[in-house]
Amino acid sequence: MNNRLAIRKCTDYDKDDIYDKIREIYDATGGPDVRNKKVLVKPNILTDDDPAKCISTHPSVVEAMVLFLQSRGATVLVGDSPAVHTAKFNGEKSGIRQVCIRTGAEWVDFTNKPVEKKIGGRKTRIAAVVDEADLIVSLPKFKNHELVYFTGAIKNTLGLVPGFHKAKQHALHQERNKFGEFLVDLNEIVTPGYFLMDAITGMEGPGPGRGIPVSIGLLIGSTNPLALDMTASRIAGYDPLIVPTSRTALFRRNWLNSEDDIIYDDGPELSSILKEDFTRIPVSTFNNIAWQFLMKRIKFLRKSERRPVFIHERCTGCHKCIKICPVNAIEVRPAYKNHIILTDSKCIRCFCCSEVCTDDAIEVRRKLFGV
Ligand code: SF4
Ligand code: SF4
Repeated sequence: MNNRLAIRKCTDYDKDDIYDKIREIYDATGGPDVRNKKVLVKPNILTDDDPAKCISTHPSVVEAMVLFLQSRGATVLVGDSPAVHTAKFNGEKSGIRQVCIRTGAEWVDFTNKPVEKKIGGRKTRIAAVVDEADLIVSLPKFKNHELVYFTGAIKNTLGLVPGFHKAKQHALHQERNKFGEFLVDLNEIVTPGYFLMDAITGMEGPGPGRGIPVSIGLLIGSTNPLALDMTASRIAGYDPLIVPTSRTALFRRNWLNSEDDIIYDDGPELSSILKEDFTRIPVSTFNNIAWQFLMKRIKFLRKSERRPVFIHERCTGCHKCIKICPVNAIEVRPAYKNHIILTDSKCIRCFCCSEVCTDDAIEVRRKLFGV
C-alpha cells in the first residue's frame, strides 16, 4: 500500500472510456501486479436494483475493471452481499450478473459456508472467498450514508460480512462512532488491495438507498482506503474528520499519519472538482459517544434526533424492514399488512430499515418537527 491517489474526469458510463481511465489510474497509483492471481472484485450492491437509481456501483465500472484485471493476467471473481441476501440474489437487476456472463468472471455467493474471523476481539462471519482470493479489488460508490455520513472504501468492505450478519454488527456497535470503529477493525483484518470509486454519478441527499443521483464526473483510485475516503468526502463537501471511519483510521495512524501525506499529483486540480452544492447528511451536533449515550436516555434530546418515519401509504407490506431490524424495534400493526409501527425507545438509529426498503416508504427525519 502507498499514499498515492489518482483521479480522472469521466462524465458517462462508456465502458471503453472507463477501461482506459482505470488503466491510467491503476498504473499511476501503483496498483498491485495481478498476473496469475485470483482477484475478487467487490462492487457495492446495496440492493439489487436498476443502475439508474445509483444505489450500487454501475455495471459498466464493474465490467471495465474485470476486463482490465483479466488483461493483466488475473482470474476474476465477482461478488457482494446486500443486507437482505435471498437465495436468489445474483445481481440480475443491478446488471452485475450480465457482467459475469459477458466476461466469464465467476459469481461468488458470500453466504455459502462463511468463515469466522476475530474482528475487534469478536468472532464475525466473513465470506469464505476472502481466504481463497489472492487480492480483493473494492469498487465503492460516491454517496451519502445516514449513519456514517459518507460511504466509501472503508465502508464498502462491510459487504464481505454476509447478509443479515451485517445487521447483527449494528446491534453490537450501536453508536455511530462505535460502528465506525468496527468498520476500521474489519479493514485491518480483511484489507482489499485496491480501491476504485465510481463517482461518475453519485448520490446526494438521503443515502445510501433513497438519495438523488447527481453527476460528479469522476473516477478515483488508490491502494489506500483512507486516502480515497478523505479525498472523496472532501469533494462532497464534508470535513473528512466528521466521517467516523476516516476519523478512527486517522486517529489510529492506520493508513496515513495526516491528510497531508496523501500524494495527489495525477488528476485535475482538487479545488476545481469540489462539489460545494452537494446535498449532505446533516451532521449531528451530538457526535461523540458521551452525547449519544445521553441522547438515548433524555426524551427531549432523543426527539431531536433523525429517526425512521414509516409512510404507510407507500408501504407494500414486504416486511424486509422488520426482518433486518437488529433490535426488533419495528412490527406490523395487528390486522394490517402495511402499517409498520416503531417502538422508538428500542430503535438504535442504525437505518438498516431505510436501506432495505425499496418502496421509499421509510424516510429519515426528526420527530420534533415531523409526524
Ligand atoms: S416500510 Fe418498506 S420495507 Fe417495510 S414493509 Fe413497508 S415497503 Fe417493506
Ligand atoms: S427501526 Fe430501523 S433504524 Fe431503528 S433499529 Fe430498527 S432497523 Fe435500525
